Amino acid sequence: MKVLKFGGTSVGSPERMKSVCSLITADKEQKIVVLSAMSGTTNSLVEISDYLYKKNPEGASTIINQLERKYMAHIEELYQTEEWREKTRTFLKEQFRYLRSFTKIHFTSFEEKVILAEGEIMSTNMVTNYLLECGINTILLPALEMIRTDKNAEPDFHYITEKCNNYMTENSGYQIYITQGFICRNAYGEVDNLLRGGSDYTACLIGAALQADEIQIWTDIDGMHNNDPRYVEGTQPVHQLHFAEAAELAYFGAKILHPTCIQPAKFSGVPVRLLNTMDPQAPGTLINNDFFEGKIKAVAARDGNTCIRINSSRMLLAYGFLRKVFEIFETYRTSIDMICTSEVGVSLTIDNTSHLADIISELKKYGTVSVEENMCIICVVGDLRPENCGFESIACDALREIPVRMISYGGSNHNISFLVKAEDKQRTLQALQKTLFG
Ligand code: ADP
Ligand code: ASP
Ligand code: MG
Repeated sequence: MKVLKFGGTSVGSPERMKSVCSLITADKEQKIVVLSAMSGTTNSLVEISDYLYKKNPEGASTIINQLERKYMAHIEELYQTEEWREKTRTFLKEQFRYLRSFTKIHFTSFEEKVILAEGEIMSTNMVTNYLLECGINTILLPALEMIRTDKNAEPDFHYITEKCNNYMTENSGYQIYITQGFICRNAYGEVDNLLRGGSDYTACLIGAALQADEIQIWTDIDGMHNNDPRYVEGTQPVHQLHFAEAAELAYFGAKILHPTCIQPAKFSGVPVRLLNTMDPQAPGTLINNDFFEGKIKAVAARDGNTCIRINSSRMLLAYGFLRKVFEIFETYRTSIDMICTSEVGVSLTIDNTSHLADIISELKKYGTVSVEENMCIICVVGDLRPENCGFESIACDALREIPVRMISYGGSNHNISFLVKAEDKQRTLQALQKTLFG
């Protein structure tokens, strides 16, 4: 069985929902279909929550009303019969009534998570009802009962595997199994989510849990491109990536994939295919265990990094210095992305700055600390094993006019990373495109 995930744009209008339904029912194969919220909906739900945090129920109500009008119009377009319009209308109206109930109560991050879950709850219901109206043997499975995170906010893979397999065994015989991406419960049973873009993660977790034949991520572009198409012209789809290469690209900013979604697929060896709903025949990108030597595959960029430099003559010829530095980051549960060291200093980057002030204050015990915000990690991915001589120097050469702040090479066989200021991001990506793929 295959697991297919359709992102926000792919279910972004009644017309697109119908196309997805034709696509998934084109053959009679059983499929598990993971859906995102309709595009724009999660952003609107975030906006509603922002108003409620700011104790502005009128602002929240305005967005809720706009959203409800939009969904009511979608119902008219999506269904052919009044019976299914009415069923869906009743369901959605209940969801909007529920959303409004939050304008009258004390608002915390717990309520926010419940609000954010509504986008996927609504889209999956609409699509399930449409398939049922079309006479397709369909069932909607509850992601909130199948996907759970543990005390470290990481997916609880043991629980997920058991639940997914149980649900499939108890509900055998359906042609299409629909479920919600993104949403889950946490270790305390509260409604939670897998962070923005998390539907990809849901699909990979379910695919790995069920040992699916393939996980397909359907989106609005024909696969992973060799550079970020939002900043660089003339990017091209990459037809194949090794799991490790895809994981690096996703983690370092290729928005087409959630940063950590490849991990479960990689561990269970289920291939992942990235496909385009607007052009279903395009080959897309296949992610599997094959590794092709001698190729630079793609470039990605991740914003929002902070660079911390610690200089200390005490580091010279000393041992234990780095351990002390790392322990500070461990105490504040802040992970380090890039790191470079010299005899008298260490530079590193983090993206979670919630404990920055405390971290800096502690680091000052060991040396002089300086901080640079708004940095961007540019990551070049491909065959960067030492045997593949010269590729790192080609990448470095492309950046001869760019003030590079850090270079990290040798940490993995698949990646060389450069730290630049955010304002230099676009020209860095363009320079790499020209040299590596031009
Ligand atoms: P979905 O809503 O289907 O999850 P996303 O917006 O999350 O879709 O991801 C698809 C978008 O990712 C594309 O429209 C494209 O702009 C962006 N993107 C960024 N980097 C890349 C890349 N290297 N290859 C392909 N798409 C990329
Ligand atoms: N709807 C969620 C978001 O917009 C999850 C997803 O689309 O993957 O982030
Ligand atoms: Mg996405």
